[in-house]
Amino acid sequence: MMIQDAYLNGVMERVIARNPAEPEFHQAVREVLTSLVPVVAARPEYVREGVIDCLVEPERIIKFRVPWVDDQGIVQVNRGFRVQFNSAIGPYKGGLRFHPSVYEGIIKFLGFEQIFKNSLTGLPIGGGKGGSDFDPKGKSDGEVMRFCQSFMTELFKYIGPDTDVPAGDIGVGAREIGYLFGHYKRLRNEFTGVLTGKGLTYGGSLARTEATGYGLCYFTDNMLRDHGRSFEGATVVISGSGNVATYACQKATAFGAKVVAMSDSNGYVYDPNGIDLALIKRIKEVERKRISEYVKEKSAAQYHEGCRDIWQIPCDIALPCATQNELDGAAAMTLIKNGCYAVAEGANMPCTPEAVSALQAAGVLFAPAKAANAGGVATSALEMSQNSMRFYWTFEEVDEHLQRIMRDLYHNASQAAAQYGMAGDLVAGANIAGFLKVADAMLAYGVV
Ligand code: NDP
Repeated sequence: MMIQDAYLNGVMERVIARNPAEPEFHQAVREVLTSLVPVVAARPEYVREGVIDCLVEPERIIKFRVPWVDDQGIVQVNRGFRVQFNSAIGPYKGGLRFHPSVYEGIIKFLGFEQIFKNSLTGLPIGGGKGGSDFDPKGKSDGEVMRFCQSFMTELFKYIGPDTDVPAGDIGVGAREIGYLFGHYKRLRNEFTGVLTGKGLTYGGSLARTEATGYGLCYFTDNMLRDHGRSFEGATVVISGSGNVATYACQKATAFGAKVVAMSDSNGYVYDPNGIDLALIKRIKEVERKRISEYVKEKSAAQYHEGCRDIWQIPCDIALPCATQNELDGAAAMTLIKNGCYAVAEGANMPCTPEAVSALQAAGVLFAPAKAANAGGVATSALEMSQNSMRFYWTFEEVDEHLQRIMRDLYHNASQAAAQYGMAGDLVAGANIAGFLKVADAMLAYGVV
């Protein structure tokens, strides 16, 4: 699809030619460039000074071998990545993903998105992302530890509390962050806030675990209220059963909604009585088993193999919180047909471009990931602040900051959309508001 501006279209063509076979990265760049059409018309200096050409090229890509020994004594070799995309407004910040699907294109797409998301939080953090094609599923704690230590043995050379501060993402939770942080501390002989999402006994922030899911609901609540609706009494479907999905379920329920379905990468459960979140947490976090176990203890619930059909369950609000491109055009049409009036992205880029177009065309309120799931990284930035101050805030203090950040973020995205003639389009609004701050900093630096 052509972008309606010759210069931006040329940038897109160069991105595709320079980064072949990386469709997720192309998808993320195309969405942002499409939103920038009215911006380059109003502010030609961004084109003249090469800001956009620089923005689509990572400042640095680090790619490395990660050898480790499994429980059978056999040497395994994975690949590690860190994409330091943009540091115009602060140290690189973004999670690490451990999943077999990880390759350079996925990390680039996530790192690119992170630039705008981090800018939108209003906090001084640049954009980066990293990870590995290592699959923690089915590995022993010892194997995960040896992998994480090997991963950090290389990564530590490139990160630091004022340079690049990684965090968790898919497959990287409290256990992995502990092993990574412990090894960094040992290698550098320093105790600094080099990672976020840390445990509470060694520098973690209260409310960081909950932040992405809670933040998603705070953002959605602002969007709903702006349109005379609310979570109260709504039926909600949430994909995933990891960190984001779990705390989205908890907060949506606290706001008076009934969550009737959740999933993992094998299938989904539908519970007409409302999901029992304590049971989900026990199965997924404590026992590390499959979500199919849920129906063994809940006779009214049903399990369906395959996670994509979760969107066939009628709901008022859909919160995709698993992975990229998990909700396609056909799923969007089903949601619309079933009367869904709001979709908010908890995962990164979970809706395909066809799905986003269909939802927006049908008047469904749509909250893009860049804005809606920014609560996680915002709270990571709050963790960095507490680490720098050698101080801790209470859960309530952090949660209060988070609520304010998500409210401001909604209004900034909404206002930017209106200012550039696209009122109500939060995709465009989030891209534009996130872009302007980074672009102005880049302009101030000259060509660097
Ligand atoms: P987790 O690893 O905790 O959970 C991921 C969930 O999604 C699991 O239920 C997993 O199932 C499922 N899943 C993973 N891959 C696939 C797939 N290919 N198909 C179907 N289901 C899948 O990750 P998070 O909750 O942290 O992250 C979820 C999403 O949210 C990601 O897109 C991430 O980038 C994004 N995000 C996360 C933030 C955070 O703070 N954690 C911040 C901002 C965005 P299974 O258990 O079977 O693996």
